[in-house]
Amino acid sequence: MKSIGLQIIETYKKHLDIGLNIGSEGNISIRDNQKVYITPSGIDIKDLKEKHISILDLDGIKNNKIKPSSEVDLHLMLYKNRNEIRSVVHCHSEWASILSCQRKDILQFHYMVAEFGGRDIKCAEYATFGTKKLAKNVLKAIKKRKGCLMANHGQICVGKNLEEASHLSIALEKLSKQYFFCLLSKNLKMLSDNEMKEVLKSFSNYKLKH
Ligand code: 13P
Ligand code: ZN
Repeated sequence: MKSIGLQIIETYKKHLDIGLNIGSEGNISIRDNQKVYITPSGIDIKDLKEKHISILDLDGIKNNKIKPSSEVDLHLMLYKNRNEIRSVVHCHSEWASILSCQRKDILQFHYMVAEFGGRDIKCAEYATFGTKKLAKNVLKAIKKRKGCLMANHGQICVGKNLEEASHLSIALEKLSKQYFFCLLSKNLKMLSDNEMKEVLKSFSNYKLKH
């Protein structure tokens, strides 16, 4: 079993390789009991080593000397308010960022929207990166969901483990691109409320292993 630090670094590097982030964009954390392991602030993904992972408790008290990501309050707020969350993945992926600059919620255009827990994926209101205000805005937009867009910034996904949160961040990027072009085509047929209700019911029995 790989250490938590290594799991985070491997996933962060994978996200660099598939183009979800560049440089030091985005951040990843894992909650393990009362401890949170999170990527550091402002270190290029390519240079990241296990010793750079910051470790804190849920109240933000540092367990080592590494400066955590500037979005640490956002990660901690999600863990403190949603006990089922064990991993948070934030990224600046291209298509999610484009939709976020239009401040658009993703509506029920494709059945896979339901993978995020409901009939839509919301866009959190804008606030400066790294602020408690941004953390509050995201907490509101991601309520009863596993992901949301962040206005003029990017996207964030949560999961019961890192595999799920990472999978969802890739899925949200894909849906964002599809939604952008569907809106552009002006020929978009949305799913009805009843159709979406059925999908949500089926999803509760459909177990994708993470
Ligand atoms: P950090 O390097 O501090 O994690 O910042 C990156 C980021 O995406 C801020 O929103
Ligand atoms: Zn960011």
